[in-house]
Amino acid sequence: MDYLEGLNPQQRGAAEQINGPVMIIAGAGSGKTRVITYRVAHLIHTGVDAFNILVLTFTNKAAKEMRERITKVVGPEAKNIWMGTFHSVFAKILRVEGTKIGYPSNFTIYDTDDSKSVLRAVLKEMNLDDKLYSPNYVYNRISAAKNNLVSWAEYQQNEQIQSDDHANGRGHLGKVYEMYATRCFRSGAMDFDDLLFQTNRLLKEHTDVLYKYQNKFKYLMVDEYQDTNFSQYLIVKKLAAINENICVVGDDAQSIYAFRGANIQNILNFEKDYPDLKVFKLEQNYRSTQNIVNVANSIISNNKEQLKKNVFSEKDHGDKIKVNRAFSDNEEGKTVAEAIMQERSTNGQKWNDFAILYRTNAQSRSMEEALRKLNIPYKIYGGLSFYQRKEIKDLIAYFRLTFNPNDEEALKRVINYPRRGIGDTTVDRIILSAGQNNITLWEVIVEPGKYLDGRSASSVGVFSTMIQSFMVVTKTLSAYDAALHIAQHSGLLKDLYEDKSVEGLNRYENIQELLNGIKEFSEREDIEERSLDVFMQDVALLTNDDNDKNPNADTVSLMTIHSSKGLEFPHVFVVGLEENLFPSQMSLNSRTDLEEERRLFYVAVTRAENKLTISYATSRFKFGTLINCEPSRFLDEIDAQYLELDFKAKPQTGNPFFDDERKAWSRNADTFSKPKAATAPPAGKPVKTTSLLAKAHVPSPGFAPSDTSGLQVGMEVEHERFGFGKVINLEGNKPDIKATIFFKEIGQKQLLLKFAKLRIV
Ligand code: ATP
Ligand code: MG
Repeated sequence: MDYLEGLNPQQRGAAEQINGPVMIIAGAGSGKTRVITYRVAHLIHTGVDAFNILVLTFTNKAAKEMRERITKVVGPEAKNIWMGTFHSVFAKILRVEGTKIGYPSNFTIYDTDDSKSVLRAVLKEMNLDDKLYSPNYVYNRISAAKNNLVSWAEYQQNEQIQSDDHANGRGHLGKVYEMYATRCFRSGAMDFDDLLFQTNRLLKEHTDVLYKYQNKFKYLMVDEYQDTNFSQYLIVKKLAAINENICVVGDDAQSIYAFRGANIQNILNFEKDYPDLKVFKLEQNYRSTQNIVNVANSIISNNKEQLKKNVFSEKDHGDKIKVNRAFSDNEEGKTVAEAIMQERSTNGQKWNDFAILYRTNAQSRSMEEALRKLNIPYKIYGGLSFYQRKEIKDLIAYFRLTFNPNDEEALKRVINYPRRGIGDTTVDRIILSAGQNNITLWEVIVEPGKYLDGRSASSVGVFSTMIQSFMVVTKTLSAYDAALHIAQHSGLLKDLYEDKSVEGLNRYENIQELLNGIKEFSEREDIEERSLDVFMQDVALLTNDDNDKNPNADTVSLMTIHSSKGLEFPHVFVVGLEENLFPSQMSLNSRTDLEEERRLFYVAVTRAENKLTISYATSRFKFGTLINCEPSRFLDEIDAQYLELDFKAKPQTGNPFFDDERKAWSRNADTFSKPKAATAPPAGKPVKTTSLLAKAHVPSPGFAPSDTSGLQVGMEVEHERFGFGKVINLEGNKPDIKATIFFKEIGQKQLLLKFAKLRIV
């Protein structure tokens, strides 16, 4: 079985353990994903039918790559494996089985924008203040409820939830949830969370369906298990209940979606759920140099909540981790771009070898600008999806309406676009009539004469007749011809064509690109169903990365750390290591949030194979104002022996300009911050972390970092978090002096004085 030779004995053990429950919880880069890939190949080799295998991955792209690798070992049989994200796999099942719980097989998938638009309509109807009940907030509450399998009825009956909502002054949330869910159902639509929530319902209420899929999926595997939520956990548990051939892999230290309901408890539950469980440990990191692995270990050791792991690398030590300080975000971008440029020319690397990772999407701007200036090709991953663009959504709304005329969001979107004389008053009238008669909007507009006055009735009639004609033609035309027909006859193509502005041209080209994509789809030979409605089914689940026309293009990769999960690059730049940015301002309120932020940093650092560069800026534009920034506490936590500083740049402090800006920032923060954020201290002031890290060390009353320029070996110090200790060594030159300190509580640590929050006692 030479195909398993690419695994070490532990990995191989896990891949060969094909029966019964298996769990692999191991550090980054230790080959977890590789084990799943080889394990699937092994299953097929030993005679398991590919149709009986289900693999759940975190992105569609990961599934695609895995399938390609498996194909290399087992050939075209790999095509038959069920593989994809939770959302895409269960959407597929719901298309087949959803009628059993009242959904049409061509149900629409509402994306976040659609969902929020439904919510806005509901809030308006209920006359609720949309500041208190902001669509964002409400959406997150409903999402959390669904992911914990709380239906709107249960939500309304749950005393705890009710009293919490009332205490928050948001006692109507239960009703909003009900109206929202009812509205989506009436539209024949599921939001993202429904894809899991309704799957759970389906499996619970229809045991025949459950039984069918339990028998179909004889072997289940889940990658990135640490980021599954309760709803996903339960689906997996149910499907695996008969055969118990389930293998989950993950890393608790990389759990970064708790804010979306992912629950670390799922890992702990797994052991309880399957007492016969076989646990495999993988300790060797094959991805990164020793220095990178050591840095990652030193970061994560600051978290209290973690399963102890021993991760090591046998690769070279590699370069030390470079820390760059820049004067501004623009300068930070410039430094990164120049480093890439230079390294590529001296070491003959490809653009592909570099990735720039950031905490928030907004940070991409300064990076992009700098890369463009040097003509460096780059690609942003996980950004706004092609399918989220207005013109694309417009055309797709016509498609949606054609296949599911009850889709109210689609209807509202295009009923008067392009303009056809159906004003807001008419639309309100339609909504009102539908409500009064307890029918759908579509039912109103197919009989406009019955519900509307003369003039508006006639323009509405023209619209509904047009959609009905689309329903007829799409039955016989190929996907591409149908799409083109709709683009032309809806007037959309003409409207965009006539707009001669640069943006108009751009939009027109995007529509052409969509049509080209549909053309390719209608000519594909590897799928049986190639009609437009099949093309439409998963569109809402596609991300920018899935639409990548040229995935192997040689470009620098830019993405948020969240999107970088599971990936690896020879040289990684992690930018924006500043207080209130990373860790983010929102995370400063609790230890749990701060630990999640630290895991995020761990994820970022462990993407790097050979080289890692970290940077921060001492000032940055935020909300249009220049603010002063303080280096992130995470820098302070890295063992300084692995770092190399590059501070030839500008002086860090003592610039009176900063002090003015600091004041400006304080004012600005008051104006712009959300209530929660406002409780975090403004940048530039020492951040009080006492409450967060109280368990680690409670600093003396009034603790403030003092001037450590006169620090000498033998002196006693107090560190804000590490507590009391004694200086045992000092090395390096000002301002980059490293101090080795022996702390009473935690032992020896090497700190960079300039970052360390120390007080001489
Ligand atoms: P993450 O936690 O970041 O998702 P992971 O545990 O899934 O990481 P993989 O991505 O599977 O790790 O592996 C990391 C890298 O190490 C990959 O390039 C992989 O091909 C390589 N690798 C893993 N195991 C071996 C091995 N036994 N021999 C050679 N290379 C290996
Ligand atoms: Mg992985």
